[in-house]
Amino acid sequence: MYGKPRIEVHPENCRGCRRCEVACSWTEYGTVNPRLAGIRIWKLEEEGKVYPVFNQTCLDRFCGKADPGKKMDDEPLCVTSCLFGGIKMAREVSESE
Ligand code: SF4
Ligand code: SF4
Repeated sequence: MYGKPRIEVHPENCRGCRRCEVACSWTEYGTVNPRLAGIRIWKLEEEGKVYPVFNQTCLDRFCGKADPGKKMDDEPLCVTSCLFGGIKMAREVSESE
């Protein structure tokens, strides 16, 4: 049986576009300010790598920010806004599986 949904991070797919940060901050605060988002995109210039990093609250439970076209508990807006698969939803599998 499948358990609660959780966010998975796939840094290898992340392009550093910051759509996720914008969607999160705009929806709650009406401003484009990555500092207000629950996700941060860390760009390691020297290594040429990008890492999406969530705060723990985002990883623990659904935040309530959803695309109007989606069901409330489908996926948070940051995931909906990611076009490259840098962040995705997954379901925890219970031990009885
Ligand atoms: S889970 Fe919610 S609060 Fe966290 S980054 Fe995504 S949209 Fe923002
Ligand atoms: S996680 Fe997705 S939306 Fe966010 S910066 Fe990476 S590719 Fe863009």
